[in-house]
Amino acid sequence: MISKDYSENLNPFLADLVPDESGPDLKDVSSKCRIPEDKIAVLSLNENPYGPSPNVWKALKDVPLNRYPDYKPFLKALSNYAEYPEENIVVGAGMDEIITTIARLFLGQGDKALIPVPTYNLYGLAASLCGALPVYRPRLQGFEVDLDIPDGIKMIFLCTPNNPTGNSLSEKSARTIAESAKGIVFLDEAYVEFAESNLLKLVRDYENLVVGRTLSKAFGLAGMRLGYAVAPEWIAEQYRRIAPLFSISSLSLAAGVAALQNFKYMKESVGKIVGERERIRSRIDTYPSEGNFLYLQTKERSNLVAEQLLCQGIMVRDCSNFPGAGEHCLRVSVGTPEQNDRFLDAYAPGSLSPKPDCLKT
Ligand code: PMP
Repeated sequence: MISKDYSENLNPFLADLVPDESGPDLKDVSSKCRIPEDKIAVLSLNENPYGPSPNVWKALKDVPLNRYPDYKPFLKALSNYAEYPEENIVVGAGMDEIITTIARLFLGQGDKALIPVPTYNLYGLAASLCGALPVYRPRLQGFEVDLDIPDGIKMIFLCTPNNPTGNSLSEKSARTIAESAKGIVFLDEAYVEFAESNLLKLVRDYENLVVGRTLSKAFGLAGMRLGYAVAPEWIAEQYRRIAPLFSISSLSLAAGVAALQNFKYMKESVGKIVGERERIRSRIDTYPSEGNFLYLQTKERSNLVAEQLLCQGIMVRDCSNFPGAGEHCLRVSVGTPEQNDRFLDAYAPGSLSPKPDCLKT
């Protein structure tokens, strides 16, 4: 093969983008730290440690794999769960696909998207992929969102409860923003089942507000990639015009329907996680959280603390690559009681060694 460099063909607008982390490879961590893979506590991706309802496994057995996926039963189940007509619901392969598609629907070259930070990194990436400019706005005291919207903003990305800080946006603030915004407001409720209340009803009141949801968290189906959004009818119609036709697999759709049918299982799983979240909070100093994760301020730099925990087989998220988070914040997902105990023991004062053995070269 003749080796030539074709990289000059790359889109220069995307040259500065850095991919978000999916975290270190489990095999790698296992061999570095000499801890078996199944003993590593993965508390870095805000997954649900209990997995989906058992009826999901049964539902996967009879799925016809030779046919293109039929979205109808999933839409019906979502309509039931969200208490909105199907006309208001759109679906995607994870909420990530919803975010990138909705950004494409409204953002073009040079447009501005307002993003209160720190928050989920994909909003900035999605805006940049459209050639738009992410306007990162630091959050105020208590990680509250600044309600003053600068001129020329076409889209606003809000997350409630916010990843990584854990605080929720009040209904009053969300209404103020929706009413004063000239553009579209995307309200990401990925973690809302772990919170006291949600803002879904606002979709009925505003023609510029979309609520994004996922089955990755409370329903324990992150591996199935199932997201949806509840949107005003005109936005849902436009969305369907540009969204990929069959991006959700038949297996995922069947899993989604089964999971949504077992509301009781989801509620129990959420109850256990919320109980553990509060138990962790009673033991260490963290910010309050309405998600399935906690946000902590570290004395040492967060990347070092994360590495030290990793050496004890505990994976947490160092937040230093979240714009606006600084270099002293960690996000830890709530795991099983046993995983949480391991985290608490390792994180307790004096337990973190300055230079753990597994990092010595
Ligand atoms: N929004 C937020 C705030 C998230 O944290 C995540 C995933 N970590 C997503 C959306 C994407 O969810 P999904 O797995 O449905 O793509």
